[in-house]
Amino acid sequence: MLADKNEQRTSIEELGEFGLIKHLTKDFELNHKSTLKGIGDDAAVLDFKSKKTVVSTDLLVEGVHFDLSYMPLKHLGYKSVVVNLSDIYAMNANATQITVSLAVSNRFPLEALEEFYAGVAAACKVYGIDLIGGDTTSSTKGMLISITAIGEVDEEKLVYRSGAKENDLLVVTGDIGGAYLGLQILEREKEVFKVNPQNQPDLEPYSYLIERQLKPEARKDIVDLLEKLEVQPTAMIDISDGLSSEILHLCEQSKVGCNLYEEKIPLDPTVISASEEFKMDSTMIALSGGEDYELLFTIAQADFDKIKGNPNLTVIGHMTQQSEGAHLVARNNTKIPITAQGWNSFNAS
Ligand code: ADP
Ligand code: MG
Repeated sequence: MLADKNEQRTSIEELGEFGLIKHLTKDFELNHKSTLKGIGDDAAVLDFKSKKTVVSTDLLVEGVHFDLSYMPLKHLGYKSVVVNLSDIYAMNANATQITVSLAVSNRFPLEALEEFYAGVAAACKVYGIDLIGGDTTSSTKGMLISITAIGEVDEEKLVYRSGAKENDLLVVTGDIGGAYLGLQILEREKEVFKVNPQNQPDLEPYSYLIERQLKPEARKDIVDLLEKLEVQPTAMIDISDGLSSEILHLCEQSKVGCNLYEEKIPLDPTVISASEEFKMDSTMIALSGGEDYELLFTIAQADFDKIKGNPNLTVIGHMTQQSEGAHLVARNNTKIPITAQGWNSFNAS
Protein backbone atom coordinates (compact mmCIF):
# COMPACT_ATOMS: atom_id res chain seq x y z
CA MET A 1 0.00 0.00 0.00
CA LEU A 2 2.97 2.34 0.25
CA ALA A 3 3.72 4.59 -2.71
CA ASP A 4 5.53 2.75 -5.47
CA LYS A 5 9.28 3.00 -5.28
CA ASN A 6 10.44 3.86 -8.76
CA GLU A 7 12.89 1.40 -10.26
CA GLN A 8 14.73 3.92 -12.37
CA ARG A 9 16.14 7.01 -10.71
CA THR A 10 17.28 9.78 -13.00
CA SER A 11 18.67 12.74 -11.12
CA ILE A 12 16.87 16.01 -11.88
CA GLU A 13 20.23 17.76 -12.15
CA GLU A 14 21.04 15.74 -15.28
CA LEU A 15 18.32 17.59 -17.21
CA GLY A 16 18.80 21.08 -15.87
CA GLU A 17 15.87 23.32 -14.97
CA PHE A 18 14.79 24.18 -18.52
CA GLY A 19 15.17 20.62 -19.75
CA LEU A 20 13.12 19.43 -16.82
CA ILE A 21 10.23 21.85 -17.44
CA LYS A 22 10.20 20.97 -21.14
CA HIS A 23 10.26 17.28 -20.41
CA LEU A 24 7.43 17.41 -17.89
CA THR A 25 5.13 19.69 -19.87
CA LYS A 26 5.71 18.62 -23.48
CA ASP A 27 2.54 16.55 -23.81
CA PHE A 28 0.11 19.14 -22.48
CA GLU A 29 -2.26 20.61 -25.07
CA LEU A 30 -4.02 23.96 -24.98
CA ASN A 31 -7.74 23.77 -25.68
CA HIS A 32 -9.29 27.01 -24.47
CA LYS A 33 -9.77 29.97 -26.80
CA SER A 34 -9.07 32.19 -23.80
CA THR A 35 -5.48 30.86 -23.63
CA LEU A 36 -3.56 33.11 -26.02
CA LYS A 37 -0.14 32.03 -24.74
CA GLY A 38 0.72 29.13 -22.42
CA ILE A 39 4.09 27.81 -21.27
CA GLY A 40 7.27 29.16 -22.85
CA ASP A 41 7.37 32.93 -22.49
CA ASP A 42 7.91 35.15 -19.47
CA ALA A 43 4.18 35.08 -18.77
CA ALA A 44 1.04 33.39 -20.05
CA VAL A 45 -1.55 35.55 -21.83
CA LEU A 46 -5.30 35.10 -21.35
CA ASP A 47 -8.34 36.82 -22.86
CA PHE A 48 -11.73 36.37 -21.22
CA LYS A 49 -13.55 38.96 -23.36
CA SER A 50 -16.73 40.01 -21.55
CA LYS A 51 -16.53 37.34 -18.83
CA LYS A 52 -15.32 37.85 -15.28
CA THR A 53 -12.10 36.05 -14.31
CA VAL A 54 -11.88 34.07 -11.06
CA VAL A 55 -8.53 33.09 -9.55
CA SER A 56 -7.72 30.83 -6.61
CA THR A 57 -4.45 29.45 -5.27
CA ASP A 58 -3.34 26.80 -2.79
CA LEU A 59 -0.03 25.86 -1.24
CA LEU A 60 0.54 22.23 -0.21
CA VAL A 61 3.47 21.20 1.98
CA GLU A 62 4.75 17.65 2.41
CA GLY A 63 4.21 16.43 5.95
CA VAL A 64 1.55 19.09 6.57
CA HIS A 65 -0.96 18.57 3.76
CA PHE A 66 0.10 15.23 2.33
CA ASP A 67 2.06 12.13 3.33
CA LEU A 68 3.93 10.38 0.53
CA SER A 69 4.08 7.12 2.47
CA TYR A 70 0.51 6.36 1.41
CA MET A 71 -0.18 8.99 -1.22
CA PRO A 72 1.10 7.85 -4.62
CA LEU A 73 2.60 10.80 -6.53
CA LYS A 74 0.19 10.41 -9.41
CA HIS A 75 -2.75 10.74 -7.02
CA LEU A 76 -1.07 13.71 -5.40
CA GLY A 77 -0.78 15.45 -8.78
CA TYR A 78 -4.43 14.75 -9.51
CA LYS A 79 -5.68 15.82 -6.09
CA SER A 80 -3.57 19.01 -6.02
CA VAL A 81 -5.31 20.15 -9.21
CA VAL A 82 -8.76 18.99 -8.15
CA VAL A 83 -8.79 20.84 -4.82
CA ASN A 84 -8.03 24.07 -6.66
CA LEU A 85 -10.68 23.52 -9.31
CA SER A 86 -13.18 22.93 -6.51
CA ASP A 87 -12.69 26.56 -5.40
CA ILE A 88 -13.41 27.80 -8.92
CA TYR A 89 -16.60 25.71 -9.18
CA ALA A 90 -17.65 27.05 -5.77
CA MET A 91 -17.90 30.47 -7.46
CA ASN A 92 -20.27 28.86 -10.01
CA ALA A 93 -17.54 29.45 -12.59
CA ASN A 94 -16.00 27.31 -15.31
CA ALA A 95 -12.35 26.39 -14.59
CA THR A 96 -10.13 26.97 -17.61
CA GLN A 97 -6.40 27.20 -16.75
CA ILE A 98 -3.91 26.27 -14.03
CA THR A 99 -0.32 27.04 -13.17
CA VAL A 100 1.72 24.48 -11.23
CA SER A 101 4.73 25.45 -9.12
CA LEU A 102 6.97 22.94 -7.44
CA ALA A 103 9.85 22.89 -5.01
CA VAL A 104 11.53 19.50 -4.58
CA SER A 105 14.56 18.23 -2.71
CA ASN A 106 17.16 16.01 -4.38
CA ARG A 107 15.39 13.04 -2.82
CA PHE A 108 13.00 13.16 -5.80
CA PRO A 109 14.23 11.62 -9.07
CA LEU A 110 12.84 12.63 -12.46
CA GLU A 111 10.61 9.55 -12.43
CA ALA A 112 8.83 10.82 -9.32
CA LEU A 113 8.06 14.14 -11.00
CA GLU A 114 6.87 12.30 -14.10
CA GLU A 115 4.38 10.45 -11.91
CA PHE A 116 3.23 13.70 -10.34
CA TYR A 117 2.74 15.28 -13.77
CA ALA A 118 0.87 12.19 -15.01
CA GLY A 119 -1.68 12.97 -12.28
CA VAL A 120 -1.74 16.66 -13.23
CA ALA A 121 -2.29 15.66 -16.87
CA ALA A 122 -5.12 13.29 -15.96
CA ALA A 123 -6.92 16.03 -14.02
CA CYS A 124 -6.41 18.53 -16.87
CA LYS A 125 -7.96 16.03 -19.25
CA VAL A 126 -10.92 15.09 -17.06
CA TYR A 127 -11.78 18.71 -16.26
CA GLY A 128 -10.75 20.27 -19.60
CA ILE A 129 -8.03 22.54 -18.19
CA ASP A 130 -5.03 24.17 -19.91
CA LEU A 131 -1.70 24.06 -18.04
CA ILE A 132 -0.29 27.49 -18.81
CA GLY A 133 2.79 27.85 -16.61
CA GLY A 134 4.38 27.51 -13.24
CA ASP A 135 7.74 27.61 -11.56
CA THR A 136 10.24 24.94 -10.59
CA THR A 137 12.85 25.19 -7.89
CA SER A 138 14.69 23.14 -5.31
CA SER A 139 13.93 22.77 -1.62
CA THR A 140 16.24 21.70 1.16
CA LYS A 141 13.68 19.26 2.48
CA GLY A 142 10.55 17.69 1.06
CA MET A 143 8.10 18.77 -1.61
CA LEU A 144 6.00 21.92 -1.89
CA ILE A 145 3.27 22.39 -4.46
CA SER A 146 1.51 25.60 -5.32
CA ILE A 147 -1.29 25.55 -7.85
CA THR A 148 -3.26 28.50 -9.14
CA ALA A 149 -6.55 27.85 -10.88
CA ILE A 150 -8.25 30.33 -13.17
CA GLY A 151 -11.82 30.31 -14.40
CA GLU A 152 -14.42 32.37 -16.21
CA VAL A 153 -18.04 33.21 -15.50
CA ASP A 154 -20.77 35.57 -16.66
CA GLU A 155 -21.10 38.26 -14.03
CA GLU A 156 -24.75 37.45 -13.27
CA LYS A 157 -23.85 33.80 -12.60
CA LEU A 158 -21.14 34.52 -10.02
CA VAL A 159 -21.96 33.19 -6.55
CA TYR A 160 -20.29 34.54 -3.42
CA ARG A 161 -20.39 33.26 0.16
CA SER A 162 -22.29 36.38 1.11
CA GLY A 163 -25.64 36.13 -0.69
CA ALA A 164 -27.71 33.79 1.51
CA LYS A 165 -31.02 35.18 2.78
CA GLU A 166 -33.24 34.24 5.69
CA ASN A 167 -35.49 31.25 4.75
CA ASP A 168 -33.18 30.12 1.92
CA LEU A 169 -32.69 26.36 1.78
CA LEU A 170 -29.26 24.89 2.55
CA VAL A 171 -28.22 22.24 0.02
CA VAL A 172 -25.23 19.89 -0.10
CA THR A 173 -24.02 17.76 -3.01
CA GLY A 174 -23.07 14.06 -2.83
CA ASP A 175 -22.30 12.62 0.59
CA ILE A 176 -19.82 13.71 3.23
CA GLY A 177 -17.44 12.35 5.83
CA GLY A 178 -15.85 9.74 3.53
CA ALA A 179 -12.51 11.50 2.94
CA TYR A 180 -11.83 11.89 6.66
CA LEU A 181 -12.51 8.21 7.33
CA GLY A 182 -10.36 7.25 4.34
CA LEU A 183 -7.50 9.13 5.98
CA GLN A 184 -8.09 7.36 9.31
CA ILE A 185 -7.89 4.00 7.56
CA LEU A 186 -4.70 4.92 5.69
CA GLU A 187 -3.10 6.19 8.92
CA ARG A 188 -4.08 2.99 10.72
CA GLU A 189 -2.61 0.79 7.97
CA LYS A 190 0.56 2.87 7.95
CA GLU A 191 1.08 2.04 11.65
CA VAL A 192 0.38 -1.66 11.01
CA PHE A 193 2.85 -1.60 8.11
CA LYS A 194 5.56 -0.04 10.31
CA VAL A 195 5.26 -2.95 12.74
CA ASN A 196 5.00 -5.68 10.12
CA PRO A 197 5.87 -4.75 6.51
CA GLN A 198 4.86 -8.26 5.32
CA ASN A 199 1.30 -7.65 6.38
CA GLN A 200 -0.86 -6.97 3.31
CA PRO A 201 -4.02 -5.32 4.55
CA ASP A 202 -7.38 -6.01 2.93
CA LEU A 203 -8.55 -2.53 2.09
CA GLU A 204 -11.31 -3.64 -0.28
CA PRO A 205 -14.16 -2.99 2.21
CA TYR A 206 -12.87 0.59 2.52
CA SER A 207 -12.27 1.28 -1.17
CA TYR A 208 -14.90 4.04 -1.38
CA LEU A 209 -13.49 5.86 1.66
CA ILE A 210 -9.88 5.55 0.51
CA GLU A 211 -10.81 6.81 -2.95
CA ARG A 212 -12.55 9.81 -1.39
CA GLN A 213 -9.25 10.63 0.35
CA LEU A 214 -6.73 9.77 -2.38
CA LYS A 215 -8.70 10.62 -5.52
CA PRO A 216 -11.33 13.24 -4.78
CA GLU A 217 -13.29 14.84 -7.59
CA ALA A 218 -14.42 18.45 -7.89
CA ARG A 219 -18.11 19.06 -8.65
CA LYS A 220 -17.87 20.59 -12.12
CA ASP A 221 -20.98 18.55 -12.90
CA ILE A 222 -22.95 20.54 -10.33
CA VAL A 223 -22.14 23.87 -11.99
CA ASP A 224 -23.46 22.39 -15.25
CA LEU A 225 -26.48 20.85 -13.47
CA LEU A 226 -27.48 24.12 -11.78
CA GLU A 227 -27.36 25.87 -15.14
CA LYS A 228 -29.53 23.17 -16.71
CA LEU A 229 -32.03 23.32 -13.83
CA GLU A 230 -32.00 27.13 -14.06
CA VAL A 231 -31.10 27.42 -10.40
CA GLN A 232 -28.95 30.36 -9.34
CA PRO A 233 -27.60 29.69 -5.82
CA THR A 234 -27.69 32.69 -3.50
CA ALA A 235 -24.43 31.68 -1.78
CA MET A 236 -21.94 28.84 -2.26
CA ILE A 237 -18.74 27.37 -0.77
CA ASP A 238 -16.84 24.13 -1.27
CA ILE A 239 -16.42 21.71 1.63
CA SER A 240 -12.71 21.52 2.31
CA ASP A 241 -12.74 21.82 6.11
CA GLY A 242 -15.97 20.10 7.14
CA LEU A 243 -19.63 21.06 7.05
CA SER A 244 -19.72 23.08 10.28
CA SER A 245 -16.85 25.37 9.40
CA GLU A 246 -18.28 25.99 5.90
CA ILE A 247 -21.77 26.68 7.29
CA LEU A 248 -20.28 29.24 9.69
CA HIS A 249 -18.51 30.95 6.76
CA LEU A 250 -21.80 31.23 4.85
CA CYS A 251 -23.62 32.50 7.95
CA GLU A 252 -20.99 35.04 8.85
CA GLN A 253 -20.55 36.43 5.36
CA SER A 254 -24.27 36.41 4.55
CA LYS A 255 -25.26 37.75 8.00
CA VAL A 256 -27.79 34.97 8.60
CA GLY A 257 -28.27 32.08 10.99
CA CYS A 258 -28.90 28.43 10.12
CA ASN A 259 -30.73 25.32 11.25
CA LEU A 260 -28.99 22.17 10.07
CA TYR A 261 -30.95 18.92 10.49
CA GLU A 262 -28.83 15.99 11.65
CA GLU A 263 -31.17 13.40 10.11
CA LYS A 264 -30.82 15.01 6.65
CA ILE A 265 -27.02 14.90 6.40
CA PRO A 266 -26.20 12.55 3.49
CA LEU A 267 -23.86 9.74 4.58
CA ASP A 268 -22.67 6.77 2.55
CA PRO A 269 -23.39 3.42 4.28
CA THR A 270 -19.63 2.77 4.49
CA VAL A 271 -19.22 6.08 6.37
CA ILE A 272 -21.73 4.85 8.94
CA SER A 273 -20.09 1.42 9.31
CA ALA A 274 -16.52 2.78 9.47
CA SER A 275 -17.61 5.42 12.03
CA GLU A 276 -18.86 2.60 14.23
CA GLU A 277 -15.61 0.71 13.76
CA PHE A 278 -13.59 3.76 14.83
CA LYS A 279 -16.08 4.44 17.66
CA MET A 280 -16.73 7.90 16.30
CA ASP A 281 -20.00 9.73 15.77
CA SER A 282 -20.82 9.88 12.04
CA THR A 283 -22.49 13.29 12.43
CA MET A 284 -19.36 14.62 14.10
CA ILE A 285 -17.28 13.31 11.21
CA ALA A 286 -19.55 14.95 8.64
CA LEU A 287 -19.39 18.23 10.56
CA SER A 288 -15.67 18.40 11.16
CA GLY A 289 -14.05 15.84 8.86
CA GLY A 290 -13.19 17.83 5.76
CA GLU A 291 -11.59 17.18 2.36
CA ASP A 292 -14.84 15.99 0.77
CA TYR A 293 -14.80 18.74 -1.89
CA GLU A 294 -18.57 18.67 -2.21
CA LEU A 295 -20.42 21.95 -2.73
CA LEU A 296 -22.60 23.60 -0.09
CA PHE A 297 -25.03 26.24 -1.32
CA THR A 298 -28.22 28.08 -0.56
CA ILE A 299 -31.22 28.59 -2.84
CA ALA A 300 -34.45 30.56 -2.61
CA GLN A 301 -37.38 28.43 -1.42
CA ALA A 302 -39.10 29.19 -4.73
CA ASP A 303 -36.42 27.06 -6.47
CA PHE A 304 -37.09 23.96 -4.36
CA ASP A 305 -39.23 22.27 -7.02
CA LYS A 306 -36.39 22.53 -9.54
CA ILE A 307 -33.98 20.50 -7.38
CA LYS A 308 -36.50 18.21 -5.68
CA GLY A 309 -35.67 14.51 -6.07
CA ASN A 310 -32.28 15.08 -7.70
CA PRO A 311 -30.01 12.31 -6.37
CA ASN A 312 -26.98 14.66 -6.32
CA LEU A 313 -28.60 17.27 -4.10
CA THR A 314 -29.83 17.07 -0.51
CA VAL A 315 -31.59 19.84 1.39
CA ILE A 316 -30.06 19.70 4.87
CA GLY A 317 -31.39 22.85 6.48
CA HIS A 318 -32.51 26.43 6.08
CA MET A 319 -31.18 29.85 6.87
CA THR A 320 -32.62 31.94 9.71
CA GLN A 321 -32.22 35.42 11.16
CA GLN A 322 -28.63 36.10 12.17
CA SER A 323 -29.68 36.64 15.79
CA GLU A 324 -30.85 33.01 15.99
CA GLY A 325 -27.30 31.72 15.36
CA ALA A 326 -26.22 28.48 13.70
CA HIS A 327 -27.53 25.22 15.17
CA LEU A 328 -27.56 21.53 14.58
CA VAL A 329 -31.08 20.18 15.15
CA ALA A 330 -30.28 16.72 16.50
CA ARG A 331 -32.36 13.58 15.88
CA ASN A 332 -33.87 13.95 19.35
CA ASN A 333 -34.88 17.52 18.41
CA THR A 334 -32.43 19.30 20.73
CA LYS A 335 -30.70 22.33 19.24
CA ILE A 336 -26.92 22.33 19.52
CA PRO A 337 -24.84 25.40 18.58
CA ILE A 338 -22.49 24.73 15.66
CA THR A 339 -18.85 25.61 16.33
CA ALA A 340 -15.95 25.62 13.88
CA GLN A 341 -14.67 22.38 15.41
CA GLY A 342 -17.96 20.63 14.81
CA TRP A 343 -20.50 21.13 17.53
CA ASN A 344 -20.26 21.74 21.19
CA SER A 345 -22.23 19.05 22.96
CA PHE A 346 -21.87 20.81 26.31
CA ASN A 347 -23.84 23.79 25.08
CA ALA A 348 -27.15 22.22 24.13
CA SER A 349 -29.93 24.82 24.38
P1 ADP B 1 11.22 32.39 -15.32
O1 ADP B 1 12.68 32.28 -15.13
O2 ADP B 1 10.77 33.62 -16.08
O3 ADP B 1 10.44 32.15 -14.05
P2 ADP B 1 11.00 29.69 -16.08
O4 ADP B 1 12.23 29.26 -16.80
O5 ADP B 1 10.85 29.36 -14.65
O6 ADP B 1 10.82 31.24 -16.32
O7 ADP B 1 9.77 29.12 -16.86
C1 ADP B 1 9.72 28.99 -18.24
C2 ADP B 1 8.32 28.62 -18.66
O8 ADP B 1 7.99 27.36 -18.11
C3 ADP B 1 7.29 29.60 -18.17
O9 ADP B 1 6.26 29.66 -19.15
C4 ADP B 1 6.78 28.95 -16.90
O10 ADP B 1 5.46 29.35 -16.63
C5 ADP B 1 6.85 27.47 -17.26
N1 ADP B 1 7.06 26.60 -16.11
C6 ADP B 1 8.07 26.64 -15.21
N2 ADP B 1 7.94 25.67 -14.28
C7 ADP B 1 6.81 25.00 -14.58
C8 ADP B 1 6.11 23.90 -14.00
N3 ADP B 1 6.54 23.28 -12.88
N4 ADP B 1 4.97 23.48 -14.59
C9 ADP B 1 4.51 24.10 -15.69
N5 ADP B 1 5.11 25.12 -16.28
C10 ADP B 1 6.26 25.59 -15.76
MG1 MG C 1 10.66 30.47 -13.02
